Amino acid sequence: MPICYVDLIDACHLKCQTCVRGTRVMPNTAVKMPLDYFERTVAKAKSEGYDVIGLYNWAEPFLNAKVADYVAIVKRSGLCCDISTTLSFAGREHLIEQVLAAGLDSMIVSISGFDQEVHAINHRGGDLRLVKANLERISALKRHGNIHTSVVLRFLKFDYNADEEARLRDYADTLGFQFQALQANGDPARPASALKVADAYRERLRGFTAARPYEQPGDICPLIADTIAIGANGQVTLCCGNPSFDFLDIGDYLDTSKEELLLTRFTHPMCASCTFPRRPATDADRAALTGALLARLGEPPGKRLPAQPEDSGLHEPDALAPVSAQPGRSFGDGALGRVLRRVIGRAP
Ligand code: SF4
Ligand code: SF4
Repeated sequence: MPICYVDLIDACHLKCQTCVRGTRVMPNTAVKMPLDYFERTVAKAKSEGYDVIGLYNWAEPFLNAKVADYVAIVKRSGLCCDISTTLSFAGREHLIEQVLAAGLDSMIVSISGFDQEVHAINHRGGDLRLVKANLERISALKRHGNIHTSVVLRFLKFDYNADEEARLRDYADTLGFQFQALQANGDPARPASALKVADAYRERLRGFTAARPYEQPGDICPLIADTIAIGANGQVTLCCGNPSFDFLDIGDYLDTSKEELLLTRFTHPMCASCTFPRRPATDADRAALTGALLARLGEPPGKRLPAQPEDSGLHEPDALAPVSAQPGRSFGDGALGRVLRRVIGRAP
């Protein structure tokens, strides 16, 4: 189901050593998404075909004291609402209950150990005693039929904590929660520094090649096709797989058309050097990308290609036929032509 991730706040209280937020490579700020902006964001996301609003990306949603109001907005819109949290806080029992009672569909609780000493290696600043107390309170609410939220206990698995998995699985089972063990990236003993992250991005840009070696014609990145990520400041970032750095901002979500967001993300230079697994584009993906290109050209999306001069890079001998009816067409060698070839999955 297509998911729209929205950070309600630009901060996290933990210092997870494998996370750009936790190491403050992405510093905490006081930015919060205003409720009215959020409401319009949800309406636009719904109109663009997103089924789920995930109230998380690079932040702890429960740091926003109005988080239940945001959940209520999503539920009023008829969309599903998910949250990912650490539950590592005290004094927010009422807020947690308000969020669940507002109709939250799914809650992911991330943890990296059964014992505090192990958990705190990565989840620095986390307090497992508080996490477990909150989990057990939620479990009791579920057991008594007061809430219907699906809860997933997500174990971030590193080499050093793999032997905690069985106990955590049993614990989740006891609480009536789902359990998920996820192989974590990075090493808490070697936290990401701002310098290392900046170097990594420079390296990727240095390695830029228009050939897009990790993507076959006809493939698309699922993070572009199936998700969108919006920061607490309303800016769409390239994808949820990268930090929400300013230089990866695509545009203000409410002010930028769905077509422009898609095309700008699809042709982003960072993607050329990204090894994230792609998937075959579906007919719907191809139609969306073709429509986005037509919109960029000033045409009504999904209609017809305009006639192009021979030297424009988009030579089109039969400009009146619908795009979908021209499987063998030639689009020339210009930049837009290359994009179109990728859209329809033909070898160059
Ligand atoms: S809880 Fe999540 S956002 Fe916060 S530091 Fe840890 S991984 Fe990053
Ligand atoms: S940077 Fe990688 S993961 Fe992100 S949208 Fe591009 S290809 Fe996908």
